[in-house]
Amino acid sequence: MAKPARLDKFAVAAALQEIAALLELKGGKDRFKARAYQTGARVIAGLSEDIGEVVLGNRLTSMRGIGDALASQIEQLYLTGESSVLRGLKKEFPAGIIELSAVPGLSVSKIKSLHEALGITSIAELKAAAEAGKIKSLKGFGAKTEATLLETISNHRQRGKQDERLHLHRALQTATQVADYLQTARDIREISFAGSLRRWKETVGTIRLVANTKQPSALIEHFRRFPLIVEFIEQMEEACTVRLADGARVSVVAARPPEFALALLTETGSKAHVNKLQQIANGEGPKSNAKQATKKRARRRVRSGLLKEEDIYAQLGMEYVPPELREDEGEIEAALAGKLPEDLVTLADIRGMVHCHTTYSDGKHSVAEMVAAAEAMGMEYVTITDHSPTAFYAGGVTLDRLKRQWAEIDEVQEQVKIKILKGTESDIVADGRLDYPDKILEQFDVIVASIHSRYKMDSAKMTKRIVTAMRQPVFKIWGHALGRKLLSRPPFDCDVEQILDVIAESRAAIEVNGDPNRLDMEPRWVREARKRKIKFVISVDAHSTGALNNLKYGVAMARRGWLRKSEVLNTLGAKAFQKAVKPA
Ligand SMILES: [Zn+2]
Ligand SMILES: [Zn+2]
Repeated sequence: MAKPARLDKFAVAAALQEIAALLELKGGKDRFKARAYQTGARVIAGLSEDIGEVVLGNRLTSMRGIGDALASQIEQLYLTGESSVLRGLKKEFPAGIIELSAVPGLSVSKIKSLHEALGITSIAELKAAAEAGKIKSLKGFGAKTEATLLETISNHRQRGKQDERLHLHRALQTATQVADYLQTARDIREISFAGSLRRWKETVGTIRLVANTKQPSALIEHFRRFPLIVEFIEQMEEACTVRLADGARVSVVAARPPEFALALLTETGSKAHVNKLQQIANGEGPKSNAKQATKKRARRRVRSGLLKEEDIYAQLGMEYVPPELREDEGEIEAALAGKLPEDLVTLADIRGMVHCHTTYSDGKHSVAEMVAAAEAMGMEYVTITDHSPTAFYAGGVTLDRLKRQWAEIDEVQEQVKIKILKGTESDIVADGRLDYPDKILEQFDVIVASIHSRYKMDSAKMTKRIVTAMRQPVFKIWGHALGRKLLSRPPFDCDVEQILDVIAESRAAIEVNGDPNRLDMEPRWVREARKRKIKFVISVDAHSTGALNNLKYGVAMARRGWLRKSEVLNTLGAKAFQKAVKPA
């Protein structure tokens, strides 16, 4: 007998997702099991090494979130293509149950009757049956139910299109999985992220990718077989939008090599930016410094296929606009005038890792571990900034423990080349003071000053609190400035412009926080601050060594705020940085 083909990690993950969804439908105690399978699916889909090596090396249970029961199902799936748990669950439910259960008001028992009477296994079939009037004659349904069902289905679809945005790092993770999968297609030349993900917006609605291939329809066909797809939202010959099992919406556009650059530009957006480019190509809109003749040529050439985005901008008589700037907020006019900043800060410019927590407060790793990780990333210095005592819930560092940390830092310093700066993330307490006595504050190498409590003050009080903090005589970096948590907590209510005016004449700088749950302060305020010549640091706010990778998000946010290298303090060398942020 022929050996069954072994499943790849995505097929295994898809099966685990299916088990989770079915357990969720059973409800009750099975909900807990469902969560375990969901975690398992995420872990397996995100594997960076070959799933075969993990399974055959008996290493599944050594991975976080995978217990014995889960491991045995993963092994079964990998080796045989089947899972006993999934087989058992499938016997309990009709086909299409997962998709149909997403329709509000449609219970499992109703889905069962629809299946038995009409053989319905999908929302599309349900819609067709309702439109043909076949449902009202079923026992327990009636004309009213049929009408309600039709309405719910169309509402549900619409909501599905607008709903949920993803945090940037989640979108990036999923996009990488899809791109990895698409790389396995035949004749693929290049895959690029597009849309708000490529523009590094804080949250992403639809994850967009553009593929460069001589065979667009074959590429889309390949994408349609991506195992984590649960719903097709829009399908065309050379483009396809789907929903994945974890709820993410993904759109792939396939373009032939001559059309790739234009497709990438269009898919990247923003809409406002692309529309204005279109106007310029049509000879309308803002004028270029380049001659009219160039523009005529541009109109012809844009259609006939330029190979790079850079060429398209050049043919329109303008400078290349980096994706982070494509919002129609002045970048087009600047590019036409040849005045886009040449020295926008880049990841390579950053020489020091700012705002790191350790096990002294709520970090996962020790001083030595954080320092070693920062050094391995090529940094010249790292600031250790654990919480201050008022942040007791985060294990804020009391004075005696602070002395111990300083001694430990001195010891670690002897072992490494990277310069370690002794810092604090000091709470800005309710009346605007910082959290250690002045005598202690003056001894730090660097102070990040942040608000962690009493968020709901009225605007006047909050403004006064922050202004008072910024006017403290020690130099401080305003940490995660407006306190927002993306998709869950809005920024504080306060008079930002007034605060920026005060910072401009105080001993203070502002942080661009790279934690993908914060990404604070936001680009429009960064631009306001730039006008006042305020300096910035780009920080990671890392609570683990892995979170040092937040740096790329911080840099992207800074670029969206048009920050130049010279405006970012941690592009300085260790000595100059230390001098610039010295509290006293
Ligand atoms: Zn903080
Ligand atoms: Zn922090």
